[in-house]
Amino acid sequence: MADRLPSSRVPAYPKQRGPLDIDVAVIGGGLTDAWPLTPSRRLALTSFFSSRAGWVAAATGSSLGFISEEPGVSFADVEQGMGLRVARHAFSAWRRAALDFSALLRRLDVKCDLAACDAMAIATTPEQSMRLKREVKARRDAGLEAPLVTAHAVQADLAIASDGALREKGAALIDPYRACLGIAAAAAGRGAKIFERSPVRRTKFNRKSAMVVTEGGTLRTRFVIVATGAPTELFASLARHFWYRTNYLVLADRIPLKTRRLLGRRATILRDFAQPAHIARWVDDEQLMISGADQESPRSGIGKRRSFNALDS
Ligand SMILES: Cc1cc2nc3c(=O)[nH]c(=O)nc-3n(C[C@H](O)[C@H](O)[C@H](O)COP(=O)(O)OP(=O)(O)OC[C@H]3O[C@@H](n4cnc5c(N)ncnc54)[C@H](O)[C@@H]3O)c2cc1C
Repeated sequence: MADRLPSSRVPAYPKQRGPLDIDVAVIGGGLTDAWPLTPSRRLALTSFFSSRAGWVAAATGSSLGFISEEPGVSFADVEQGMGLRVARHAFSAWRRAALDFSALLRRLDVKCDLAACDAMAIATTPEQSMRLKREVKARRDAGLEAPLVTAHAVQADLAIASDGALREKGAALIDPYRACLGIAAAAAGRGAKIFERSPVRRTKFNRKSAMVVTEGGTLRTRFVIVATGAPTELFASLARHFWYRTNYLVLADRIPLKTRRLLGRRATILRDFAQPAHIARWVDDEQLMISGADQESPRSGIGKRRSFNALDS
């Protein structure tokens, strides 16, 4: 997604230099980092460090831009692993976060092609079909909605043969890169200090304050929010608590109109019940973007040579 915005339209922020006293420092440069910068949090002064490679590289610039009301894991699996209460809580918290995020983008009038869309999780193999049935039962037993779509309706909508689907409500699509830039610009307009090309080298904490040491200066602050996407070498000791996965994202060439007509409605996001799942969306009504085929990534070198992101390729 990052490649789709001309660099002339990407705002430039200064490098951080010298000492600075602030209330909150946010380390990172992606969507997670941009969110706490919004004025609803009433931060008097906030600093924001973008990627060492450039503005919002990493996962945000290469993500699907799917705002989902669901965490992307099966309710049945979460319930089995962590119990009904936790599963219910996780799903309702995720739903609230998705709604809040869309509301925030609207409130700030961030130009990021925010659009409500339909989403369906389809089952295309007997194994996926069993997962679909298990999921529907688990959700209904827990008193949650689990609207089913018949195979016939999936065929009519998406031109895909399946055993049926679970419909997801309240989904939306955005351009995540522009969303991130827009939120950061809104925060800058309200007084947040934003720096880029200012990698944080070290953090030091005492009882009352923290010191964030960047390549060109220091920040004394009361709170530090770490949103680097992964522990990186800054917090290497945390690395053992993470699972690392490589996730693939493919943006297809423009698909000719004649072929597009055979491919069903373009306002629907599609997932399947494969493990790991594939997710497909349309971009500009002409290109398909597909993610999936996640694989475990090796852990070697974490915290030593390179910073890890969810997106390794
Ligand atoms: C293929 C793919 C598709 C995805 N699709 C979706 C989706 O559809 N919907 C969804 O909600 N999520 C999706 N995600 C997850 C998505 O990436 C996250 O929701 C979000 O973009 C992550 O943002 P982030 O700010 O946490 O991390 P990142 O975007 O990775 O940003 C971390 C930033 O921290 C910076 N940084 C690291 N170390 C330092 C340091 N020492 N000093 C200063 N800065 C530093 C990095 O350079 C980077 O800019 C997807 C992820 C992948 C990989």
